[in-house]
Amino acid sequence: MITANKIEKIVKTGVLHALYREDGGWYHHLKRFPGALFDYHGYVLFETKEDYDNNPSLIHRQDLNVKNGISSLPNYRKFVTEEIKQIESLKSTSKKIIISERKILNIIKSDLDSIEEENSNHFEGGTKKRMISYYERNQKLRAKAIKIHGTTCKVCQFNFKDNYGVHGEDYIEVHHLVPIHTLTKSTKVNPETDMIVVCSNCHRMIHRNKYQQLAIEELIKLRNDVINSV
Ligand SMILES: [Zn+2]
Ligand SMILES: [Zn+2]
Repeated sequence: MITANKIEKIVKTGVLHALYREDGGWYHHLKRFPGALFDYHGYVLFETKEDYDNNPSLIHRQDLNVKNGISSLPNYRKFVTEEIKQIESLKSTSKKIIISERKILNIIKSDLDSIEEENSNHFEGGTKKRMISYYERNQKLRAKAIKIHGTTCKVCQFNFKDNYGVHGEDYIEVHHLVPIHTLTKSTKVNPETDMIVVCSNCHRMIHRNKYQQLAIEELIKLRNDVINSV
């Protein structure tokens, strides 16, 4: 984004207060002097408050209105080529940042959605009663799965107790090998064959694509490929 402060850093007029409006027509009031009003192509300096207050082209209202814009004032100075280049680049870098932030936000949202999917224990169109009974059943299945598979990640061998001491003891995440939204009421889940234990990192990576979770073997392969390439 172009701001008066950023332009001042480029042009270095040495003013105490600077304001920017792309079209040069309306500004807030300058409060300290010397001051400068910038538009997209140049600027006007006011050495003192008197210069500013007595300029016939400035209409002091709640905001400042400059008749025909600051470029119509006799002491308007155009930016030189080098300054224009730098100001242009302010515009384009700000655009890049906005796009990438938006992209990251979308990624974060989709990552959260995909992990929610498994933790929310809901079935499409399920009744509340059915959801509760599934939730209870699911907790028991999860406990059984941990008893069977242990607390060490099946993908990367991470163990929470080994890394965080007593605080991490017995913590591991349980992953459904069959995507949970494909289960029906009558599907019997076998914790030995249908569930697996993974650390939080690997679990997130499995679900990173909301619409297609990775198979354990696929994630192990991705990891091995990286390890072997280093
Ligand atoms: Zn892991
Ligand atoms: Zn999972």
